Amino acid sequence: MDANKARQFLEALKGMGIESYFFERKNELTFSALRKEVRACKRCPLAQTRTTVVFGEGNERADLVFVGEAPGEDEDAQGKPFVGRAGKFLDQMIERVGLSRKDVFICNVLKCRPPKNREPDPAEVEMCKGYLFAQLQLIRPKVICALGRHAYNTLMNVDARITKIRGQFTEYNGVKLLPTYHPSFLLRNQERVKEAYEDMEKLKEVLKIR
Ligand code: SF4
Repeated sequence: MDANKARQFLEALKGMGIESYFFERKNELTFSALRKEVRACKRCPLAQTRTTVVFGEGNERADLVFVGEAPGEDEDAQGKPFVGRAGKFLDQMIERVGLSRKDVFICNVLKCRPPKNREPDPAEVEMCKGYLFAQLQLIRPKVICALGRHAYNTLMNVDARITKIRGQFTEYNGVKLLPTYHPSFLLRNQERVKEAYEDMEKLKEVLKIR
């Protein structure tokens, strides 16, 4: 982790109560401890409107992690990420990589649903992003696929448009990061599906899946 990223990581964890796991009792932060912490979180106002906290799910040792934006209505009701129509579409994207949902880990930048599926507020992202960073730190995947601009911008600490950066590999803390379109966007913009499938081919190649 370079100094800048390390500072960003520490900053995000500050005050969340989980930095002590990393920096005082090294390596003691486990997935179950983090999950417990996130499920009880009331750090931002979304805690008052959510039904459930959507921590994320899948293989905790996955080579590939998908990061979306925030839970929607179905996810909020079921406590699982990507379970509605967008979820079905994400399943198809994962199949294109030659994997299935159980092989990968899927999570979001925000762990609680913004009311009426509005865009994440920057203050909410600021409060929540340390949990995502911690998840990625624990999983240590080979590749991260950012689904949409919120995931990419949060990880890279930039403000980029998805149409400008989609399909171009970069790195997050030494891990390959590929931004592509969010499945919900693809449901509304079918003409972009081809590009998203091309991105899945790139993931397949990087992961050396035949
Ligand atoms: S969105 Fe994140 S910071 Fe806000 S209450 Fe949920 S888990 Fe906590």
